[in-house]
Amino acid sequence: MDSILVIDDSRAQAEYLKSILCDDYDVTICVTAEDGFRKAKAKDFSLIILDIILPDMDGFTLLKKFQENILTRYVPVILISGLADVQHEEKGLMLGAVDYITKPFSPITVKARANIHIKLHHYQAQFMRQAMVDQLTGVANRRRYEDDSIMKWREAVRLGLTFSVCMFDIDKFKIYNDTFGHPAGDKVIASVAKTVSSYLQRATDFFGRYGGEEFVAIMIGNDARSAFEFLKTIRQAVEDLHIPHNPDAAKWVTVSIGGVTLLPKDGDSYDTYLKIADTMLYDAKRFGRNMVVWSDAGQEQWREK
Ligand code: GH3
Ligand code: MG
Ligand code: MG
Repeated sequence: MDSILVIDDSRAQAEYLKSILCDDYDVTICVTAEDGFRKAKAKDFSLIILDIILPDMDGFTLLKKFQENILTRYVPVILISGLADVQHEEKGLMLGAVDYITKPFSPITVKARANIHIKLHHYQAQFMRQAMVDQLTGVANRRRYEDDSIMKWREAVRLGLTFSVCMFDIDKFKIYNDTFGHPAGDKVIASVAKTVSSYLQRATDFFGRYGGEEFVAIMIGNDARSAFEFLKTIRQAVEDLHIPHNPDAAKWVTVSIGGVTLLPKDGDSYDTYLKIADTMLYDAKRFGRNMVVWSDAGQEQWREK
């Protein structure tokens, strides 16, 4: 059952809304903006009904906070208000509310609008899921990577945890395609993605297709040495798929991996470290491929099969 969050300082009003919607939805009530913001972040609501006049913060300000937070950004918000003038309605819709209802309202209208916005929310969520997935491999695509990498970076900064980013590149893949054909090459890309992603299953991990035969992974909370060891296991797992390569190139299909682990500080830039990972990958290619090269963003660099 879909959940709706009602934020209204009048408990009687909130209870009335709940009575209108509770047959079809699981309705939670909050009477302050602060509590509303906390609850909205803690649970996956399909709709928020927000009163404009609240004791601690006005509904417009709270709406802005919802828009700025990744956890609440995509939840549709209907503003509900005794303020019937067009300026308030304009302001609310410009700020990103999906609808504006003035009091007194008809219960049937409220229910109908809730139904339609929840339906649209589901369509949007489905569309976004598809738009964020790489069609060939089923892992996160480049667009999702752009969003998630920055989120993970900020999370590591905020929590004071180490951050690891690494790049993968399939070795001598042009020769593979030239020998076995592009459709066979596609199957290899999908197999490699499946194998690598099976190792990166923690909630804090990220794995996605960066483009072509390149992948990117992010981990939070590992020290440099253990990240390096873990990626060596993954490199071995790809080799152990025993996908025959063109014998002039290699016995099996393999990957080269370059990565870096650091403790990010405020003011550090994610892109700087991605470049280090890329340089490590370049070194892995240079020193013979089928290899992991890792940096601790300081003095040390490890290189090993
Ligand atoms: P290296 O070991 O230095 O990485 O050599 P490489 O041949 O893998 O590198 P290069 O960048 O020259 O070639 C990458 C190849 O990957 C070329 C391209 O045909 C192939 N490729 C990129 N995307 C796809 C894809 O979606 N499907 C298939 N089958 N091949 C792809
Ligand atoms: Mg490449
Ligand atoms: Mg390659």
